[in-house]
Amino acid sequence: MSDNLNYENELLVAVQAVRAAANLCRSVQANLITADTLEKKDKSPVTVADFASQAIVCSYLQQAFPQDQVVGEEDSTDLQHHEQVQLRHSVVTHVGEELGGDLDEAQVLNWIDHGNADATQSRYWTLDPIDGTKGFLRGQQYAIALALIEQGEVVLGVLGCPNMLVGEQLGGIFTATKEGVARMFPLADTNAKGEVIHVSQVAEVNLARFCESVESGHSNQTESAQIAALLGIATEPYRIDSQCKYAAVARNDASIYLRLPTRADYQEKIWDHAAGKIIVEAAGGKVTDMHGNPLDFSRGRLLDNNQGVVATGGAIHDQVIEAIQRVRGQTNLELK
Ligand code: AMP
Ligand code: MG
Repeated sequence: MSDNLNYENELLVAVQAVRAAANLCRSVQANLITADTLEKKDKSPVTVADFASQAIVCSYLQQAFPQDQVVGEEDSTDLQHHEQVQLRHSVVTHVGEELGGDLDEAQVLNWIDHGNADATQSRYWTLDPIDGTKGFLRGQQYAIALALIEQGEVVLGVLGCPNMLVGEQLGGIFTATKEGVARMFPLADTNAKGEVIHVSQVAEVNLARFCESVESGHSNQTESAQIAALLGIATEPYRIDSQCKYAAVARNDASIYLRLPTRADYQEKIWDHAAGKIIVEAAGGKVTDMHGNPLDFSRGRLLDNNQGVVATGGAIHDQVIEAIQRVRGQTNLELK
């Protein structure tokens, strides 16, 4: 398999946009997160970076593809409150530093709200400007996640992972297109074409290593430990924040990603999974919900036809799904 040239221009712009947003997030993380912010659990750095990252990605997309809607996680409503003058100023300054130039506030707010569309068009982008905000605040893993959806199908995904190592270099970009390969390259290397990455081919499930959220509120870690025990997996789970988990499976740092609901009514958001899913699939893996059903991106902003997420190298997928059903006491086939 090779690159899918049908999406060459989209991929080029998406990588530029994600790289610029990742650089911005990195500078916010380096300069604004201090022992003091961590101590006070002060969320302002993530707020600044969230808004600024969305503005940057949208500015690229709006310029290159003015017809395309963007379904992003943020909007500028909170930022527009008059008492938020400091925050607004900080966002505008950071966006200006990254894009180069003195920007006017209205322009930056406009870019943020360009990412405010409903997922109703047949083609639209979906963006998580900072996925894994808790990891960002801890100085750990987070991702900028951008994907293109056409007719309810993810056709392109780009993940910027500023704190993942690519070889010796800190920061990576992962890309994939429909019917194309998955690639990885260093964030700082603007000329890199990237190396093609592949999932684990492990067929003995007990040799698999699984990854999951750091946050026990986002994925049921008690249940995943029971599933791992049932499958004979002895290695400790690899806990990392954000869609970096999909990147980890795509390049075989881990062979299973388990995301098990902590509450029955939680509905996953499309921007938390679209980019990661196509990258794992293009790397040769499989992604479904915890019942083994495909993730349904045709429903708007939510994956409301699905529960949980399971990503694997493929060969062991059915065994993992079966173990989940057994542990959850739902062995009847109709749930599959
Ligand atoms: P992670 O980095 O795996 O912990 O996932 C981060 C994402 O979890 C955030 O982007 C949220 O959208 C999402 N999230 C928030 N609450 C929940 C929940 N109760 N269950 C699952 N995911 C959640
Ligand atoms: Mg997110």
